[in-house]
Amino acid sequence: EIRVRYAPSPTGLLHIGNARTALFNYLFARHHGGKFIIRIEDTDRERHVEDGERSQLENLRWLGMDWDESPETHENYRQSERLPLYQKYIDQLLESGKAYYSYKTPEELEADHAAQEAAGQPPHYVNEYKGMTDSEKEAYVAERKAAGIQPVVRIAIPEDKTYTWTDLVKGDIEFEGAHLGGDYVIQKRDGYPTYNFAVVVDDHDMQISHVIRGDDHIANTPKQLVAYEALGWEAPQFGHMTLIINSETGKKLSKRDTNTLQFIEDYRKKGYMAEAVFNFIAFLGWNPGGNEEIFSREELIKLFDEKRLSKAPAAFDQKKLDWMNNDYIKHADLGRVVEMCRPFLEEAGRADDRLESFVKLYQPQLRSAEEIVELTDMFFKPLAPWDEAEKEIMAEETAPVAVKDFKDKLAEIPEADFVADNIFPLFKAVQKDTGVKGKGLWMPIRIAATGSMHGPELHVAIELLGKEQSLANLEAALN
Ligand code: GLU
Repeated sequence: EIRVRYAPSPTGLLHIGNARTALFNYLFARHHGGKFIIRIEDTDRERHVEDGERSQLENLRWLGMDWDESPETHENYRQSERLPLYQKYIDQLLESGKAYYSYKTPEELEADHAAQEAAGQPPHYVNEYKGMTDSEKEAYVAERKAAGIQPVVRIAIPEDKTYTWTDLVKGDIEFEGAHLGGDYVIQKRDGYPTYNFAVVVDDHDMQISHVIRGDDHIANTPKQLVAYEALGWEAPQFGHMTLIINSETGKKLSKRDTNTLQFIEDYRKKGYMAEAVFNFIAFLGWNPGGNEEIFSREELIKLFDEKRLSKAPAAFDQKKLDWMNNDYIKHADLGRVVEMCRPFLEEAGRADDRLESFVKLYQPQLRSAEEIVELTDMFFKPLAPWDEAEKEIMAEETAPVAVKDFKDKLAEIPEADFVADNIFPLFKAVQKDTGVKGKGLWMPIRIAATGSMHGPELHVAIELLGKEQSLANLEAALN
């Protein structure tokens, strides 16, 4: 049976990189009819964040993922609740001699590492009992205990072994046992297991069949294979996804990159559509082939193929996300977009009886619901001054002719009939009366009425501005 897991450490908000890990595990499970499991890896007590777990789950749910097993429905799905299980296997390894107590202090280890680096070697741990006779060992341990030094537990790495696996993404990988940094800690001084050990016990205990995670974990995998072997367990299959780079800098995506939004929370707050974000993330290091890029969750589940996970870094492109989100907003029900935009317009004090009309007017161009505020500026603020290009258009001889005639005709529409359908025919009428036509006609009118050469449907915008404001704008442009 296929069983995969997403195993967040609740150390902060859901980052796009972690959301991608969750999403590919989800698609893999759903595509193959397997189980998707959530396990909380909360053994790093220093980095623990209050509420981190709830926020992770809430954001995954918002993205449209669901899961079969998690701490919400299953007991002991948080590592902090599983300490007796880790202890059981640590004791087993201690008894069989595959693990041992290590009394070197952090200061001593630091001094060793400094000496190794000075000698041009990578820092590593050297078995502190090496070369000791049994009685020397005993004396060493007794002395350390008497000095009140707390030991850690280390697992012994057979140095002459090579650790290999066929990675779902990267193909065959191998690491020499001698290059893993020495026997590693499986239990810390505070009694908690380390990540590399707990993850093995958990993945085995939960019968995880495939471990799909970021390639920042690649160097951990051989260490985990050491533990599988010492415990006599079969390891799951591993797949390590390439890192995500910022398409603008070409470097690894960093939480400090200010030209990108990286937390799922940010997308929610700014009014992105969950389906668009889901679709976007699915393309971070994967694609189904072909040019089509807009797919629903169901389609992605059907199409997902782990063999198409990319070996090249995934490029995070904020502009592409905005394009995709616009595509989803454009095709969504107006009612839904209205509800997405309402809180932003309310917050800005702009939720008057034109709210729905504003949203309808801008729906084709919205990249996020938050943008509705900026876009409706012309209805609530003095018009922006013209830029050079706009000034040039307004300096044309025919510009005031068209604007003036349009203004006069507009003034004749009774207040009660001031609607887009009655405004639209005026452009033709102005053309007939003045001889000005095409762009030379409507562009100056647009700039005069709205303050900009870019914008939404002009006759609708003029209706929403209202008779009084439209006339005032046109008048001001003529002076
Ligand atoms: N808690 C680990 C992390 O957040 C999980 C790594 C794994 O999937 O093994 O990076």
